[in-house]
Amino acid sequence: MAFESINPATDEHLASFEAWDAARIEQALAAADRARPQWHQTPLEERCALLRRTAEVLRAQEAELARLITLEMGKLYREARAEIEKCAWVCEYYADEAARFLADEVIETDATRSFVAYQPLGTVLAVMPWNFPFWQVFRFAAPALAAGNTGLLKHASNVPQCALAIERVFREAGAPEGVFTTLMIRASQVEGVIRDPRVHAVTLTGSEPAGRSVASIAASEIKKSVLELGGSDAFVVLEDADLEWTVQQGVMSRFLNAGQSCIAAKRFIIVDAIAEDFLERFRAGVEALQVGDPFDDSTSLGPMARRDLRAELHQQVQDSIAAGAVAVTGCHEIEGPGAFYAPSIIDRVQPGQRAWEEELFGPVAIVIRARDEAHALEIANGSRFGLGGSVWTGDSARGEAFARRMQCGAAFVNGLVKSDPRLPFGGVKASGYGRELSHHGLHEFLNIKTIWIR
Ligand code: NAP
Repeated sequence: MAFESINPATDEHLASFEAWDAARIEQALAAADRARPQWHQTPLEERCALLRRTAEVLRAQEAELARLITLEMGKLYREARAEIEKCAWVCEYYADEAARFLADEVIETDATRSFVAYQPLGTVLAVMPWNFPFWQVFRFAAPALAAGNTGLLKHASNVPQCALAIERVFREAGAPEGVFTTLMIRASQVEGVIRDPRVHAVTLTGSEPAGRSVASIAASEIKKSVLELGGSDAFVVLEDADLEWTVQQGVMSRFLNAGQSCIAAKRFIIVDAIAEDFLERFRAGVEALQVGDPFDDSTSLGPMARRDLRAELHQQVQDSIAAGAVAVTGCHEIEGPGAFYAPSIIDRVQPGQRAWEEELFGPVAIVIRARDEAHALEIANGSRFGLGGSVWTGDSARGEAFARRMQCGAAFVNGLVKSDPRLPFGGVKASGYGRELSHHGLHEFLNIKTIWIR
């Protein structure tokens, strides 16, 4: 079956690509395996130089790469440009920092000299989603390549042109054959690649079922895995928050990328004292969003990435309303071409409703009322997920104390949860394990090797 590239704003069919057969996969695995020892032996400065040239290629081609992203998965063109710039940043960040992160760590013991040496694990398979089709890949690839690993990419089926463009960017920057390879394979072909002895580890960013499957296959082969899965981040508003600004930030966090971000604010947990005031302003902010062509500068909400994802989201919303949640605004598909969904809010979401139990991956905000701060924390931590979360308050010490008690991988006080190459990124609970970015991300796919000398 072919990979179809379809514009989700217009339903226009853009291109098709054949999935690889076993012989073609074998060719790619053999090339990665040939490249591996050479890339490991390549001096670190040269590996970093490749990342700098990659950043240059990304910047030089920013407009056309961003256009490809918008065409294939529908995000606003200006958001797509920012995504390409962020990829260039992460390449430069690791080019600058890799020597420090990979330096031997001397530890005094009874040896004449003992130290930790950081060595690459080998070839790492990355299974990636479509929502940030460049960023997700580069935040894996930049540290992996800097560390001397070789990378294989199995990208989401709906972004085949982005998948191929990423490999091309690395090749144009001078990556030797086999150092970074896009595999045009189906999800069903991933197992064979993980089990192949020439593949040493796997990282997956995506849904919980995909994570479960990939991690159990890797475990059965005793191969390292990192999982970056879904989230249902709490956005907790306390009564002393600056409401005007908090609402504005909340709208931005929930509706960026048409709501399809793992770290979007998803559960708006509002203390009773300000709940009505918050909701009124929030509704006004959401209803002011301009739905339309993602290439148009005046648009603030583009289409979802696929029609089937929109149908699934709508079902979650309908089931929650049937179970007692209250539709405040939106809550319907927009008729006509494209996978547009009305910007939506559902209020009075309760345990047992799908909106409470599951991640809503689209432009739908859910509001949950809390009696007080303690109750808000209990609700925030009551989720199966633990990716990010934020708390909004006029008292930053109060916010910090709250943030420390949130069960998640990243807690922000008076700020949108976001990823930054300098800070570790990842979750706890059903949001996965392991970290990307910072030195933590680079160290995930290394042999942390003790050397002891008399
Ligand atoms: P998905 O369906 O799990 O797909 C992600 C990737 O996994 C795709 O390449 C997909 O390939 C592949 N895949 C799916 N099932 C698989 C299986 N059984 N074995 C091997 N590979 C499999 O997720 P999505 O709908 O594209 O992405 C949305 C999800 O990703 C959300 O839950 C979101 O929160 C999460 N996410 C998490 C992060 C994070 O950093 N924590 C970041 C972004 C997104 P096909 O496309 O060919 O099916």
